[in-house]
Amino acid sequence: EWAQVCSHMRDEIGEAAFDSWFKPMAVHSVDAGTANICVPTRFMRDWIANNYLNQIRALWSSLNHQITDVEIIVTNTQSGHGILAQASQNARQAQGNPAQPMQKTPVQAQEAPSYGRPQEMPNLADQLGAQLDPRYTFDNFVVGKPNEFAHAASKRVAEADIPPFNPLFLYGGVGLGKTHLMHAIAHHMRLVHPNRTVVYLSAEKFMYRFIRALREQKTVDFKEQFRSVDMLLIDDVQFIAGKESTQEELFHTFNSLVDQGRQIVLSADKSPSDIEGLEDRLKSRLNHGLVADLHATTYELRLGILLSKAEQLGVELPSKVTEFLAYKIASNVRELEGALNRIVAHSQLVGRPITLETSQEVLHDLLRANDRRVTIEEIQKKVAEHFNIRVSDMHSARRARSVARPRQIAMYLSKQLTSRSLPEIGRKFGGRDHTTVMHAVKKVEELGLHDRDFAEDVELLRRMLGGVS
Ligand code: ADP
Ligand code: MG
Repeated sequence: EWAQVCSHMRDEIGEAAFDSWFKPMAVHSVDAGTANICVPTRFMRDWIANNYLNQIRALWSSLNHQITDVEIIVTNTQSGHGILAQASQNARQAQGNPAQPMQKTPVQAQEAPSYGRPQEMPNLADQLGAQLDPRYTFDNFVVGKPNEFAHAASKRVAEADIPPFNPLFLYGGVGLGKTHLMHAIAHHMRLVHPNRTVVYLSAEKFMYRFIRALREQKTVDFKEQFRSVDMLLIDDVQFIAGKESTQEELFHTFNSLVDQGRQIVLSADKSPSDIEGLEDRLKSRLNHGLVADLHATTYELRLGILLSKAEQLGVELPSKVTEFLAYKIASNVRELEGALNRIVAHSQLVGRPITLETSQEVLHDLLRANDRRVTIEEIQKKVAEHFNIRVSDMHSARRARSVARPRQIAMYLSKQLTSRSLPEIGRKFGGRDHTTVMHAVKKVEELGLHDRDFAEDVELLRRMLGGVS
């Protein structure tokens, strides 16, 4: 089966990427529906987890229904995979995280302590829940306007002794930090109260556990276990939309925990009211505590996240590259992170420094997917803002240099960044003739040749508007 997964993946991602990431992988063991795959370095594990794991899971479980989960483990950090191993080392040091909480070597697998809890603890949390990603801490979470509310609410919950609101419901689009915040809450709780049972798992996993319990006629154990935890965090609740018996079970677990004053944290991609296929009584329960949403990231936040991640990786990025990435990859943080990882890995593999040009090359597919075609209206607005003139001056007949020059620049950028023809562009600029547009394009090119400042100004505008080259 692994061979089949591999051959699918090879078709999917191409020979080169396949050789870099899949060749070194090997199946380590299969254990209660979880397939463990080992890789030689932590860096590789993180990379694969970020970029391919979901696909691997989906493929594998479609080939074999017994496989419900796939985990990547690191077999040997010492076997220096040169710079890559070093990079992972740096990342670990930068985090001030000397232990290897997520690492299970085959020999150590049994004793590997889970994050921040004494080794000999009865590990109900590990039995029921999923492992926490050691990188997903509050310290590593960059706070900005779009996530400050969700972050503050999570912190409150993590630091409180009794639930300040129950449940805490976090929602927002893909890759905006829901899972990160949930892990951060769990980490913090386990650190401060090592004796409490803090269980984190996805709604999907909750469902599989439940179904297995049904099949093995162990539902009593299941109920008992889940109803005795001190804190329960369930991720991606939208997954159990339409799954009635699982919802029912969750509902009862939920009530029981709330009655006992135990904290529950949930996440979903939509607000409780907007998830279709969720029972009303569950919805109303979910709405009962605090509902906090994560908004789409802003340019500033993305910049902050990039700087923080680069520091964790122990690399220095030219500011041109960070600005470029923050501007171009606006869809979600996971993609932004993936892009950064790719650039860093590439530079380390080929042994060349990171530049804007190599970044664009390495990311061309991602950039194309994120390419938002800019419109002439956007160009006019941006250029007008930049030169502090009115947008209406883009259409007006005024010929004063202070408005005519910006207008010419806007025409030039329209020609460069959109696929509009000269007459079309002319029409958008107050019905001007196509020869006027042609003249503007020539003029701007010519000025750029002689006037460095001017050229840089135009280049800056072009970059702000998303032009790649
Ligand atoms: P979600 O669960 O909302 O889909 P995740 O929590 O998995 O998103 O986040 C995706 C990736 O982006 C993770 O690697 C996470 O660490 C990172 N990330 C998201 N938001 C932030 C943030 N504000 N600061 C640092 N990293 C973030
Ligand atoms: Mg998530």
